[in-house]
Amino acid sequence: MTANPHSPTATPSAEAPALTEVADGVHAFLQPDGGWCLNNAGVLTGRDDTVLIDTAATRGRAELLRAMIASTGAPPPRFLVNTHSHGDHTFGNAAFPEATVIAQEGTAADMVAHGLHLTTLWPDVEWGEIGVDAPTVTYRDRMTVRAGGTVAELLHLGPAHSAYDTAVWLPAERVLFAGDLVMSGVTPFVMTGSVRGLLDALETVRRLDPSVIVPGHGPVCGIEMLDANVRYLRWLSGLACEAVASGVGPLEVASSVSLGEFSEWVDGERLVPNLFRACAEARGAEPGAVLDVGEMFGAMVKHYGGLPTCHA
Ligand SMILES: [Zn+2]
Repeated sequence: MTANPHSPTATPSAEAPALTEVADGVHAFLQPDGGWCLNNAGVLTGRDDTVLIDTAATRGRAELLRAMIASTGAPPPRFLVNTHSHGDHTFGNAAFPEATVIAQEGTAADMVAHGLHLTTLWPDVEWGEIGVDAPTVTYRDRMTVRAGGTVAELLHLGPAHSAYDTAVWLPAERVLFAGDLVMSGVTPFVMTGSVRGLLDALETVRRLDPSVIVPGHGPVCGIEMLDANVRYLRWLSGLACEAVASGVGPLEVASSVSLGEFSEWVDGERLVPNLFRACAEARGAEPGAVLDVGEMFGAMVKHYGGLPTCHA
């Protein structure tokens, strides 16, 4: 066990979630402080239709999202897009039984394969009545969904943050719902994805030239935060290449480096599983290659001397 100034901090309980309008009829559901399992979601409303992008980790938080949608006068969502399979974005699907769930086909398969595994990492969280509400409509490369006049393009990217990621792009509003491809003031996470793949995905979404980015975690941001994510990933990749060249392991690297400009970001402990992924890629692993998630997450917990706090 290593004492480390970047140990997961027991931040005071997070602020209440809020629904913020980022363009006409386009809302972001933001859950401060964006730490473990405190993800963001998106709500598109137009005429008599509502499209929801992701939900929340717990039934309580998903019900709050449902109530906030109702408070805008919009009907319950007809379509629900999951940007990737991780439980913080998908477990709350259960609170929207009337919605048709849509996801990239690999995401749909991953949701079924992983089930409610995330709940076992934080058994003390009040998850409530959740389930794996698997997508019934899947797409391969690209799909368009409409809420009234609002057009949303689903773009398959990845392996990047996870094995299969979807970015939701609103070309008329120039709003990007990035899922966990972009984190804002929160440490990027590639444990189940790919460093190289995420860099490629960020290059792709950068070319869209979004004016507003709703990240997967943390406050609404712009291109500057995307660029900061790129800097982190390049730094990570550089560390991994050096480590592999000199025969040093991920934990040794994590003990010896300073997070520098990224030290203020939430969940800095992700450096450990990120290094496992980056080192595997530096040794030749394909993007998204299946690695032992239990080993990587367990090494992080052991390295920092405890499970990071989850405020979900
Ligand atoms: Zn995720």
